[in-house]
Amino acid sequence: LLSIKHVRKSFGDLEVLKDVHMDIEKGDVVVILGPSGSGKTTFLRCLNFLEKADAGEMDFAGMHIDLSHPSTKDITAVRKKTAFVFQGYNLFANKTVLENVTLGLTTGRGMKKADAEAIARDALQRVGMAERMDYYPSQLSGGQQQRVGIARAMAVKPDVILFDEPTSALDPELVGEVLKVMRDLAKAGTTMIVVTHEMKFARDVATHVIFMDGGVIVEEGTSEDIFEHPKEERTKKFLHRVL
Ligand code: ATP
Repeated sequence: LLSIKHVRKSFGDLEVLKDVHMDIEKGDVVVILGPSGSGKTTFLRCLNFLEKADAGEMDFAGMHIDLSHPSTKDITAVRKKTAFVFQGYNLFANKTVLENVTLGLTTGRGMKKADAEAIARDALQRVGMAERMDYYPSQLSGGQQQRVGIARAMAVKPDVILFDEPTSALDPELVGEVLKVMRDLAKAGTTMIVVTHEMKFARDVATHVIFMDGGVIVEEGTSEDIFEHPKEERTKKFLHRVL
């Protein structure tokens, strides 16, 4: 479904990604783990051009894209086929929950308002937010806001949903409700790439785990490979610290 390779990215003198790659098939849940500053978020952002890579290639849904020189058409096409869930939710404060989810369908995809609302209601139902459709983000808890963020991503029916540390801004007692929604999505066969520090989620849900450190993929494999039989010293040390 999506193959990306030789991705490089520097911020000034700091080389954040040094030849990173990833291959995902439909239905995969890829979890990217690694210490703070290892380049996980930057990699995810390069996938849908929130950040422009210095080098790299992407094959996605029949397109071959040079990541350092994407055309506007490439960028639009990739963004149509992906959705991003942000650490800080990024909801519009002056729009209701329903409007937040509908907007990507009307403005973004040119859908009729009534059709968009029907899809948005269904997505909000799936994340348990049907009762709060007329609320504004400020009237919701962080966990509820993030569930709206996920509903917004689901509503556009993307080929892949990208999650950038979706629970790390949340109070601990609100993390569970968001992870539950993500588990349900995974069970339903949604293709997902998730940057997270939630080890139990990674262990239980990932079909493929990538461990990054210092801008490189140190080790990757199934959840069992990485959590039960890590080969690399750096992976072992990281897991020892966080588990
Ligand atoms: P964390 O788990 O803390 O979010 P991460 O693995 O996601 O870490 P990145 O956010 O990708 O790491 O950041 C990698 C490095 O790049 C860090 O040293 C960070 O300070 C730097 N960096 C990220 N974005 C920028 C930017 N826009 N300008 C300059 N440096 C940046």
